[in-house]
Amino acid sequence: MSEPLSCTEPTAYDRITSDGGKAGVKFRLQLVVVNASGHEHVQEVARIERDEVSIETLGLTLAEGKLILKSIQEGMVQEQIQDALRRRRHCPECGKARHGKGHHDVTMRTLFGNIELKSPRPEHCRCQRHVEKTFSPIQAILPEHTSPEMLYLEVKWSSLLPYQVGCDLLHDVLPVNEKLSAVTMRNHLFAVPNGWSRNWARSGRA
Ligand SMILES: [Zn+2]
Repeated sequence: MSEPLSCTEPTAYDRITSDGGKAGVKFRLQLVVVNASGHEHVQEVARIERDEVSIETLGLTLAEGKLILKSIQEGMVQEQIQDALRRRRHCPECGKARHGKGHHDVTMRTLFGNIELKSPRPEHCRCQRHVEKTFSPIQAILPEHTSPEMLYLEVKWSSLLPYQVGCDLLHDVLPVNEKLSAVTMRNHLFAVPNGWSRNWARSGRA
């Protein structure tokens, strides 16, 4: 009988486990936001820990992927909105700061989750005549509250599959809002103009 193979040099696995710790690795995913002046700030997106690797724990799970997409989407959208509001904080004519008149909540529906936004309602500056006293910058920038990609997939899958199957499919693979239902998808299918999804796909954006 031959002697068992013996390694005199420690392997990478031995080095990880030799100090009594478990084999494994930790991941911290971050979103780094860089503003126009080059200043960076970091938002934590996710922390993932893995022990010994197996085919089930190799890379991301579907659930982790969905949570990460949702978290990145939330961070990106809030930053974009804050940037847009900063640009509109002053009157473009005279440069005076606009006074706030409260805010209301707005929900934006995207493939990577619903995003709740605080939508401020500043007063128009008195240096110009305006029909209304106040306005909503977010309503002016984003009159639609559903992203066209979201609408496209809702309409496409509703037209190819039973509503409930299409709805389940969206929930299975994307972090869409948990309240998305077959009824909503049916309503959206009937609300869009004929050929809308075909034209959207032809535009090269889908
Ligand atoms: Zn002004």
